Amino acid sequence: MPSQRSDDEWVGLVSLLLTSAKMPDESELDPKLVANKNFQKLLRGIVDIRDLSHAMSRGNLHMFAYSKGFVLSNLKALQANLRHLTWQTKQVAEGDFSQRVDFLGDFSDSFNEMASKLQKNTLELERLANIDFLTQVPNRRSAMQYLEQIFMLYKRSHRTFSVLMFDIDHFKYVNDNYGHDAGDKVLAYFSQAMRRIFRESDVFCRLGGEEFIAILPETPLEGAVVTAERARRVVQEMDMPVDADTILRRTVSVGASQAMPGDESFDAVIGRSDAALYKAKGAGRNKTRTEPDLDVDEVLSTAHVRFGKVRESDSALA
Ligand code: GH3
Ligand code: MG
Ligand code: MG
Repeated sequence: MPSQRSDDEWVGLVSLLLTSAKMPDESELDPKLVANKNFQKLLRGIVDIRDLSHAMSRGNLHMFAYSKGFVLSNLKALQANLRHLTWQTKQVAEGDFSQRVDFLGDFSDSFNEMASKLQKNTLELERLANIDFLTQVPNRRSAMQYLEQIFMLYKRSHRTFSVLMFDIDHFKYVNDNYGHDAGDKVLAYFSQAMRRIFRESDVFCRLGGEEFIAILPETPLEGAVVTAERARRVVQEMDMPVDADTILRRTVSVGASQAMPGDESFDAVIGRSDAALYKAKGAGRNKTRTEPDLDVDEVLSTAHVRFGKVRESDSALA
């Protein structure tokens, strides 16, 4: 039904609805106007815009607005974005630093910078928590975590693994005769050499002092013995310059064992490697021993038969 009002009156009314300090009470309005369906729609739309923007300005992102239209839909989009941002912030709080925001201009840039710095710092902290500062190889904590994982895999899928325990022989002698710094250098040389011996998939860690561990996935005891002997021989041949006038040589004793069906935790494997290491020390040091006992020389002499492809450095051991 065409309105009886002049254009001026309509503009005045809409302007009043949009700019007055508070929404006019129905009793203040012309009853005929209040009964007009289009007016009701207009009023509803304005009330929705007011309520939604008011709720958002107070931090309430859950108000639902029924009306449609481009003004309200922009507000609804902003509400949805802010809700998504809230979710993303929660993800960051829970440690997912891969979250990025691309819909809030300068705020997006700051958020993204914050998330990527957190990601970088956390990775660095994790690295530092897992690396031995002196030798730059993984520390005891990493070794234990890795053993836990590999032992679970062994229990689930029977994929075997071996553990080598290393203890540098008469290391105290280095400290006592050449000083603690020389001792530190020997530890660093030893670790550097071991990093070259092991495969990418092997894990070589410093347990503490002059004791190290290597965890060899998918490796039976005989294979572990071959690797242990290669490492041991590299160490005994290695020149370690500790100062301008002094080149030291050291030897290392190695204890090897393999995961076995009765083992209830990786402690059992470590226990056997420790026992084997003790035997190597007892046998005069600079030796590899296993638990249970294998004849190390026999393992080496048949290594190329057992393992088929043996690297040149391995066949040189036999
Ligand atoms: P063995 O052949 O029986 O293994 O004798 P060892 O002298 O190697 O063993 P012992 O356990 O008697 O001595 C280990 C020494 O290692 C004692 C300790 O002061 C030293 N040590 C431990 N951690 C470090 C370190 O980070 N740096 C240096 N320089 N020495 C260390
Ligand atoms: Mg020791
Ligand atoms: Mg020692």
